Amino acid sequence: MKSFQIMLGDITTVAADAIVNAANTTLLGGGGVDGAIHRAAGPELLEECRKLNGCPTGEAKITKGYRLPAKYVIHTPGPVWQGGDHREAELLENSYKNSLKLAELHGCRTVAFPSISTGVYRFPLDQAAKIAVRTIHRFLETSERVQEVWMVCFDERTKQAYEKTESDFSS
Ligand code: ADP
Repeated sequence: MKSFQIMLGDITTVAADAIVNAANTTLLGGGGVDGAIHRAAGPELLEECRKLNGCPTGEAKITKGYRLPAKYVIHTPGPVWQGGDHREAELLENSYKNSLKLAELHGCRTVAFPSISTGVYRFPLDQAAKIAVRTIHRFLETSERVQEVWMVCFDERTKQAYEKTESDFSS
């Protein structure tokens, strides 16, 4: 039985087959969840990321998880919010879709996401949650390997936004 679950927590502690990193296009680390993932994974993660030559917004690249409990890290730069008329919605959907495709390709059964773009990148939380929930559910309808997707929220406000979106979506 496939499932989508929303939880409160620190994604660096989650033992999923893959955790997703809300990266920037350099893939060389940054603040927020990106910094936390690099700190927890250790310097080998940055070493591997250096060889990837960055990643365009909405696309995704995969590395090993090193000292993390997760086997893989999938790095995706979400869009920076610029008012909404710079293809932000489409790019955020691409980040979720391409991350999930990569997880499927690598045989991952469980995948954990942070709330991509809703921190420093300022994507409005309610709109981002709708895109994330819709894209994840659509993907789970046809995935073969990926069975469980977890949305790991770092604060209560984010968790509540995703829970509300999920209950609207399922009703
Ligand atoms: P972006 O640049 O894509 O906006 P941020 O890292 O600034 O990325 O924020 C994305 C979301 O990740 C925010 O909701 C932030 O609170 C959350 N976050 C920060 N640290 C962690 C963590 N360790 N685990 C899960 N989520 C986190």
